[in-house]
Parts: sequence; structure tokens; C-alpha cells
Amino acid sequence: MRVSDDRYSRDLQRLNLAMRFIHHEARTQTIRAWTGLTDDRIRKLYRTYVSEAGAAAVPRHRGKSPQQAAYFSRTPRLQLETGTLASYLSMLNVVPPHGAREGFRSVASIARGQALCEAYEMYRSVVRCAQISFEHAVFLVRALCQGDELRLGNCVDCDSVVVVDRLSLRDSRCVPCSAASARREPANPNRRVA
Ligand SMILES: [Zn+2]
Repeated sequence: MRVSDDRYSRDLQRLNLAMRFIHHEARTQTIRAWTGLTDDRIRKLYRTYVSEAGAAAVPRHRGKSPQQAAYFSRTPRLQLETGTLASYLSMLNVVPPHGAREGFRSVASIARGQALCEAYEMYRSVVRCAQISFEHAVFLVRALCQGDELRLGNCVDCDSVVVVDRLSLRDSRCVPCSAASARREPANPNRRVA
């Protein structure tokens, strides 16, 4: 492949990824960070997208991107959905295996961005009325790659993928197993461990 072809193909990948991010209602700063496109090119792409899809199809989000790791454990439902999303992110290698940590700069790339879109689309296709926005999914990827606050783990009872708060001292359990364990434990406080 000649240099100009190679450059053209990379540019096309960038544009396709930006369009996919726009479709998922990503903010401009997120699109810029993951594609390296300028704000001006992103605005033009956005206009193209709106003229094709219709303005109503693309609500514009402004302001800061999500930044709170606690969001993912706010309700049992969010915990459950986070586990589902995380298992797709892990399956498609969007986030590194347990324990690997990456620097802030190396997280966002075109290849990872494409895999992230695929994982997010799979999550949306299996979860009815999904609550986790694409921006939150992007934040989750960054947090899991950096590993300061959140990491991937496995439920101690059923081995399914869970997102674990690094500061929490509790055993990591998925939502169904922690509900089952809560039902078991208070039943008999004097229960002897065999
Ligand atoms: Zn479990």
C-alpha cells in the first residue's frame, strides 16, 4: 500500500469512527480525543449526520463528560448493566486483562474506539431500555484501563464479569449472587460454619 493510500485509509477510519460516536451522542471533546479530528471537522461531520438522520435523531449534549466511578454502583440495576457492558468490553479486548494498567494517553485509539462501539452496540441490543449512556461507557473504558478506581473482576460465586471498586474491601459479587448471599446470611446469625 502506498503512503498516500495508507493515509487515506486511516483518515477514512477516523471519519467512520467519528460518525459512529456522533450516532451514539458522544460529546465533541470525546470525539476529538478518540479520533484526533479537529473541532471544525467534527462540526462538519455533525452537520452531515443531521442532514441525513434528521435533527431530532441527534440530541446534542454539552458540558462535561461523566467523571464519577460511583455512578456504576448507584443502583442494583446499574450494577447489573455495568457487568453486562463490562463483559462485552472484556470479550472484545477493549479493556486489558485484569490487572494491566495503561497511561492516560494510550487509552484512546481508533482500533479501540471501533471495538468500544461494537461492545456498546451489543450491550444495547441485549438490555431493554438500557440506562448507561455511550459517554458513561467511554468513561468506564478509561477508568478500567487506568485501573485507579475501578477494575475488572469475577464474581466469587459464579465467576461472571463484574466491575470492582478498588477501594471496596468486600468480596466482589454480581447482583444476583449478592442478593442470594444476603438472603442466606441473616437467616441464622448463630449458624455454624461447617
Ligand atoms: Zn455471581
